[in-house]
Amino acid sequence: MTGAPDRRQSADLSRLMREDADCRKKARDLVRKFLDRAAELEGIARQESVPLYLFEPAVLRDRARSFLDAFRQRLPAFEAFFAVKCNNHPQVAAEAVRSGLGLDVSSGLELKLALETGCRRILFSGPGKTEEELDLAAAHHERVTVLMDSFGELDRLTNAAQRAAVEITSGVRLTTQEEGLWRKFGIPLSDLETFLDRAAGCPGVLLRGLQFHTSWNLTPEAQTGFIRRLGDVWRDLDPVHGNRLEFLDIGGGYWPRDGEWLLTEEIRSPGGGSGVRGSRCLEAASIEDFAREISRTLHDRIFPFSSPAVYAEPGRWIVNDAMHIMIRVADRKADDLVVTDAGTNIVGWERYETDYVPVINLSRPSLDEHPCLIAGSLCTPHDVWGWSYFGDGIEPGDVLLLPGQGAYTLSLRQQFIKPSAAFIQLPAQ
Ligand SMILES: *Cc1c(COP(=O)(O)O)cnc(C)c1O
Repeated sequence: MTGAPDRRQSADLSRLMREDADCRKKARDLVRKFLDRAAELEGIARQESVPLYLFEPAVLRDRARSFLDAFRQRLPAFEAFFAVKCNNHPQVAAEAVRSGLGLDVSSGLELKLALETGCRRILFSGPGKTEEELDLAAAHHERVTVLMDSFGELDRLTNAAQRAAVEITSGVRLTTQEEGLWRKFGIPLSDLETFLDRAAGCPGVLLRGLQFHTSWNLTPEAQTGFIRRLGDVWRDLDPVHGNRLEFLDIGGGYWPRDGEWLLTEEIRSPGGGSGVRGSRCLEAASIEDFAREISRTLHDRIFPFSSPAVYAEPGRWIVNDAMHIMIRVADRKADDLVVTDAGTNIVGWERYETDYVPVINLSRPSLDEHPCLIAGSLCTPHDVWGWSYFGDGIEPGDVLLLPGQGAYTLSLRQQFIKPSAAFIQLPAQ
């Protein structure tokens, strides 16, 4: 782009700069919490091999309690199931279970992990379950509720129940978007009555509930919108079917309170190049807001004619703040360019090309943020941790912390060029 920016562009730029200032303030507030613990955390890095995932069970326990409290204040029968795909470390799942959550799994692999924690309440959802996976669910039918994804899966689950000679509690997933990529999940609402009819004739399959899931929810609107659509259909169901429905699973997708932190390329430091990128923090509703709006909609649209228990499947909200990443500076190539010992293969995707996260230099703690390309050591330029760091300088051997990286990092890790990272669990207190 050449020439002077037009008025619209400069208005955009000043909005972005304002958003950037708000975001930097939020980032500083987060950094401040870790500066008090810098020496303790750096000490852990000195004892253990870095890179590492640092898991804080006390934080997970706190989030689980807040989540359950928010919904249980408003809903008489409410259960939450931690979505294992969000962070699939066995110690994380075990802590979720100790914190009063069930587990939501999406494959035979995850189901085995959940069974090994001793969890008594497991939801098995997801499309395209194999016969082996359904057999495993049938073998543990006292602990597993299968959330079916299609008419074909109803047939396959019926066969699995018959092979094992058991009765399997189940639900069916409803499609929330009939167009585009999300249509692969569940059955359309318009097919619900037919599905319930069909299931009533399937021996061994006890269809007891409905599930839907929407993702990336900064506000409860996607969830309340679908509950309204569902209410219109549920109200008109044949009571023979409607009366059998004992649970409604409203899925996951709750965004953590700090909101979504994104990088913007529009703001560059003078000279551009590897200069500091701008950041933008999108607001997220509090979990109390989610609980209030969702339960209000349930009271208006479902409870007048049915009283199902309500289930939720939070992943990100529970674990995001409970795990951090620690890496070490391996090389300093310029004042504004360092290379770390770890590559982003330990998070499995190019997350920090789009997401902003404060990089905290635990070895030289400070609230001052400096522009600097923090690159990983993989042989690809897309291996980036950030465009700035908080600290009083940065040198080889320094330990860097990326706080709040518990969701969709460890479970997507790859053994690509470099090995993965160690996992350290802090004492539960
Ligand atoms: C991914 C997923 C979740 C968890 O989503 P979060 O955004 O981590 O809360 C819950 N339920 C289902 C069916 C999912 O696919």
